[in-house]
Amino acid sequence: MMVRAGDAQDQEGIPLFAPHEKVYPRSVRGPIRRLKWAVLILCLSLYYLGPWLRWDRGPAHPNQALLIDMPARRAYFFWIEIWPHEVYYLAGLLILGAIGLFLVTSLWGRVWCGYTCPQTVWTDLFLWAERLIEGDRMQRIRLDQQKLSAAKLARKAAKHAAWLVIAAATGGAWVMYFNDAPALVHDVFTLSASTTQYGFIALFTGTTYLLAGWAREQVCTYMCPWPRIQSAMIDEDTLAVTYRSWRGEPRGKHKKGDSWRGRGDCIDCRACIAVCPTGIDIRDGLQLECIGCGLCIDACNEIMDKVGRPQGLIAFDTDAKDAARRRGETPRHRFLQPRTLVYAAVLVLVATIMTVALARRVTLEVSVLADRAPLFVRLADGAIRDGYTLKIENKRVETRVFALTVRGLADALLHVAELDEPPVPAAQGTTLAVRGDGIGTFRVYLQAPRRDEPETPFTFVVRDAKSGETAQYDAIFRGPGQQGARR
Ligand code: SF4
Ligand code: SF4
Repeated sequence: MMVRAGDAQDQEGIPLFAPHEKVYPRSVRGPIRRLKWAVLILCLSLYYLGPWLRWDRGPAHPNQALLIDMPARRAYFFWIEIWPHEVYYLAGLLILGAIGLFLVTSLWGRVWCGYTCPQTVWTDLFLWAERLIEGDRMQRIRLDQQKLSAAKLARKAAKHAAWLVIAAATGGAWVMYFNDAPALVHDVFTLSASTTQYGFIALFTGTTYLLAGWAREQVCTYMCPWPRIQSAMIDEDTLAVTYRSWRGEPRGKHKKGDSWRGRGDCIDCRACIAVCPTGIDIRDGLQLECIGCGLCIDACNEIMDKVGRPQGLIAFDTDAKDAARRRGETPRHRFLQPRTLVYAAVLVLVATIMTVALARRVTLEVSVLADRAPLFVRLADGAIRDGYTLKIENKRVETRVFALTVRGLADALLHVAELDEPPVPAAQGTTLAVRGDGIGTFRVYLQAPRRDEPETPFTFVVRDAKSGETAQYDAIFRGPGQQGARR
């Protein structure tokens, strides 16, 4: 059978493509909704206020507590400063986040998706703005069904304007993590920000507006890989939003005064579907689309209160406990499972490694590059001179003075081109100052009598005169050796 685009069907005539149905979630009250508001306010406050936190690092350094300074190639996290080659700290943070997510998922199911995922948080915020302007579920449905009018246009325009304001604040806040926040705000509003800054603000404004305003639950259902991955972490002991079908079925409409005998508690009011941000029916069982927000629990509890039945027809529960209740047994929650313990152990291990690595983080590093052309220079008096480029990384915010000495070349003289001083005995050395949070680059010359061997290993030693922190670098002093002497 030939299948044309637009009417794709399988051989039995069932459409293979289901058009998107717009979801109009109704507002709901209850303890879970209040908890979600609290988490939302906390997450948004952390995000929007994060770039405004200050941290004093001295006059020559940025005072933003959370900052990724791309031009200077530094990442700042309060007192921690990450250099480009220390990106493994960020990798460690990502690993910690991933394992933490595994642990949380194995314990409490999709709590991340339902409460703290940015897509959920911003969609909730956009929905709040939408309700404020267009009204609750039924008013929004009616508005969408209305013919275009000035009043409808005004409401729609107001909603999109509000969405764009939120999206711009979100995109702007994101860019503030890469720039000094007060300076960026000033530059943006005086039209003196760079094209890159405006470009990134526009990019993140656009993605926030599209994902939280238009795509909403489709991001969770079709775009996000996490629901598929976490299916592998869920078992009968994982907490999930559960419809207690053994209590609710057989469902049916119920009139005040009717008997509850021979029927379930579900009165098929569909309140649980009306409040669901993904528009699903939890009574069909656990579904990929369910983000575990629990709003259907609040909606159903409200109904149960109204009809005088016990709350908890829909509840956070595990399959194992639900099955025990169904059998009339006392449910027991198996909190400590091997998988949970493994996740917790790995989490503690990685956190410990990260903490120790940060506590022992060196603030002084040295690297040396020996001249290649020429490898050495023969001086008029027959002595040999080698040249090196020495780099000293000072990872502290203050300027430091380092003692540079050479070990293993007792008869050598040391000369630093940048210093206005004659060559000094290499073992005695000289001092070099390197500005805070910077790299000092020096041209270093070693001059020594001709030796028997063409290569003599030795060590550059750099020592902080104040703290005693020391870094070493093994190098080679090259010369012609005996063979060169015979030529
Ligand atoms: S079914 Fe319930 S828990 Fe799942 S997304 Fe819908 S409202 Fe949230
Ligand atoms: S809200 Fe409760 S009573 Fe109403 S349809 Fe859903 S499960 Fe049934």
